[in-house]
Amino acid sequence: MEIISLLNIIYAIIIASYHFFIYNSNENDINKLILAFASLLSLWLILQGYSLTLDFETDEITIRILSSIQLALNFSTIPLTYYLFFLYKERKKSKKKFNKLILIPYVFFLIVHFYYSTDIKTPILYRKIGYDLEILAESQFYSFVIIAYSVFYILSNFILLFSIVKENKSSREKKYALRFTLSFAVEAFLIVIMYTPLFSDYSLILVPLNFSFFIFIMSIFMNKDLVLANISEVLFNILDNTEQAIAIVDSNFILKYNSRSFNKYFPSDYVNKCKKDISKLLESQIDREALYMDFNENIRIDSNGEKRYLFVSNSSNYDKWFQYEGSVLLFKNITKLTEQKVESNESLEAQRENLLKKEEELRELNQNLTRTLVMNHALENRYEEIKENDSLTGTLNKEAFIKGVNKIIDSKAKKLAIVNLKIRDIKTMKDIQGYNFGNTVIKTVSDIIKEEFGRFVIISRYASETFLIAVANFKNNDEVYENVKGIYEKIKEYRNIENYETSIKISSGISIFPDHGQSAMDLISNSELAMYQAEEEDKSVVVFTEEILKEIHEMHRLNNEILEACKRAEFIPFYQPIIRIGEGNPIRSYEALARWDHPIKGITSPYFFIGVAERTGSIREITSLLLNKTCSNIKKFEEMGYDDFRFSINISPIELKDLNIFTKIEKAIGEHGINPKHLELEITERGLIFDLNFTLHLLSRLKALGVYISIDDFGTAFSSFNYLKNLPIDKLKIDKGFIDPIGTDEKRDMILKAIIDLSKNLELETLAEGVEDEKQFEFLKDNGMEYIQGYYFYKPMPFEEILEKELYPGC
Ligand code: C2E
Ligand code: CA
Ligand code: CA
Repeated sequence: MEIISLLNIIYAIIIASYHFFIYNSNENDINKLILAFASLLSLWLILQGYSLTLDFETDEITIRILSSIQLALNFSTIPLTYYLFFLYKERKKSKKKFNKLILIPYVFFLIVHFYYSTDIKTPILYRKIGYDLEILAESQFYSFVIIAYSVFYILSNFILLFSIVKENKSSREKKYALRFTLSFAVEAFLIVIMYTPLFSDYSLILVPLNFSFFIFIMSIFMNKDLVLANISEVLFNILDNTEQAIAIVDSNFILKYNSRSFNKYFPSDYVNKCKKDISKLLESQIDREALYMDFNENIRIDSNGEKRYLFVSNSSNYDKWFQYEGSVLLFKNITKLTEQKVESNESLEAQRENLLKKEEELRELNQNLTRTLVMNHALENRYEEIKENDSLTGTLNKEAFIKGVNKIIDSKAKKLAIVNLKIRDIKTMKDIQGYNFGNTVIKTVSDIIKEEFGRFVIISRYASETFLIAVANFKNNDEVYENVKGIYEKIKEYRNIENYETSIKISSGISIFPDHGQSAMDLISNSELAMYQAEEEDKSVVVFTEEILKEIHEMHRLNNEILEACKRAEFIPFYQPIIRIGEGNPIRSYEALARWDHPIKGITSPYFFIGVAERTGSIREITSLLLNKTCSNIKKFEEMGYDDFRFSINISPIELKDLNIFTKIEKAIGEHGINPKHLELEITERGLIFDLNFTLHLLSRLKALGVYISIDDFGTAFSSFNYLKNLPIDKLKIDKGFIDPIGTDEKRDMILKAIIDLSKNLELETLAEGVEDEKQFEFLKDNGMEYIQGYYFYKPMPFEEILEKELYPGC
């Protein structure tokens, strides 16, 4: 008897400590529950062992308490399953109170048992466990209660366990709950068997065995987890020692594991915060919700006044029911990298600020000059363009390109070619067909370049319409030349972009290392010179030569001479009288044409110097000289009493790019005190369409001054009446090119007639340039031409000659 009691107690200790060990090695709620089960069973076994030592002298109340406790322990799975159930109480908050009501029958049964067990000392003394059955036989009420309660007990356990299976969101715990249910079913089955007469004699042994069997089934699964836990321990050891910090969080973002370097990366108060919720660590730099998703982000941690930048990579885990299980977070220290980046960003920021400042200065300057919105608009467009530059084509910027080229040179490259490729008239395209259209053209060209040259080149969009291409792997110079030709041919094929009829023109220049320069800058500038040459000669590609350089030197030399001559006022106007067709063909106006009164060469034709002056900008000085001289001559005519006349001066395209010309003219008119209606400005088509918005603004302002505006050389460039409609102009000067062939080609005569008609429709005055003979004059007269300029009537002459010959207005 003492041995059986002892065995009971030993068994109890084994079960309790085994499950305690399991729980200790893997602290989770399920293991906690199993430990609780095992502890209850052990307690029951101890009580059982104790009760086996009792005899008939034992007082009633002891037996009664003992019996009730044992029974309570026996049936304790209900409250335990509840405990399991309430692990998920957060999700079951609404049903919480109702669930507690289920405990009422349990408590009720214990009270009934306590009351009736007063009558049943004997069973214990028989040392069998089946005393309940004896009571069953004695009291009908007790019998009813115990049967009802047993059924309730089994059913409610099943229901509870199933509801856990159903509602639990964690796949692992779901699995456990299912196993619990199955084990419970087995246990219930065994209990029934044990109460059959066949086994009742052995129930003393079988009942504890049965209970422990139930628990052991669970622990088998636990064992499996334990093995896994051991493997993970090895893994965690490895993880612990990696340089990168690792953190593992559960579905509530509670930190479950962190590697050693995690403690290095984060101050301890941070780590403690994370134990409650890792999202605290990310400190509002990353949304809490983001943890549900995989992400890679940079965060900043400030600890003890020290900034630390971390790259965080999160991978979230989901079970097969797509329930979030937790995340593994990886942290990499990128403080150094970030600081470098911040530095370069700062210098970028400084540059940008500089640019903004410059822009601000520019804006101020312009405001002084214009005070109009239109001007700002034009500027903004250009600023946008600069900003957008490289993002459009995905090519390198200027600095990167130069660096790249220098690298190639430094790498002792044998051959290197720089191609400078300019898309012509891009500005005009943007103005006429729209900004986006212009960008599409740029993009198209950049794609063609990439396609033609393949991978072994560096490409940069150097300026808004210029590309630089560095080619390193070629056999001979002709190959590069052919490549560029190839680009030209491909571009020619694009006849339609965005439903616009297009003809994209490119001009390119090539310079070759080492012949044409030893550094990136030399090569680039020489390729640019070659490109200018191509542009000038209307060619697709020109290879740099020493001649080009010589020409450029020559140009600069001449330009210096021009500037010197300007200081000495060697540029003087010759005036060519213009007649109005009609009664006596009277003189209506005079065009001022520049002549260089050269100290050695004498009177020199503008063909010798205008080109250079326009390219270098010194034309501005020449214009100033002619403008002032002409204004003073206008004043003379005014003083002589003439009113119906005009003097025109030529304004070159380059002068139409800013408002200086406006100020200059306004000032000249004011200084000489002339009537602005006596002054006419000749503007060529090419100059007009450089920037339509700006030109419109400039011309409107000039117009507002009261001066007269005419389009010179009409028909040589775009010949588009479309834009003419919108410009404040008064006259078309039809180019000599249309006049020369009069009477030789019927088709051309038709075109000329059409031009005259169209300009009349636009209510513009018409003038024919370079009329040299009677036939031309008669034709023009018959077809409604209004003004004639040409050697047929007068050649350009000095103002003195006009006075001398009395070629006054109206004569
Ligand atoms: P343009 O503005 O088209 O001036 C007309 C040119 O045609 C003048 O040549 C004039 O002398 C010439 N011409 C006039 N009638 C006849 C004719 O019946 N037959 C022929 N063959 N030629 C005729 P010029 O003075 O030599 O000027 C040439 C070009 O130089 C001008 O063409 C103009 O583009 C430019 N130019 C002249 N002076 C200035 C100036 O002060 N400023 C600017 N920006 N350009 C100027
Ligand atoms: Ca002219
Ligand atoms: Ca002309």
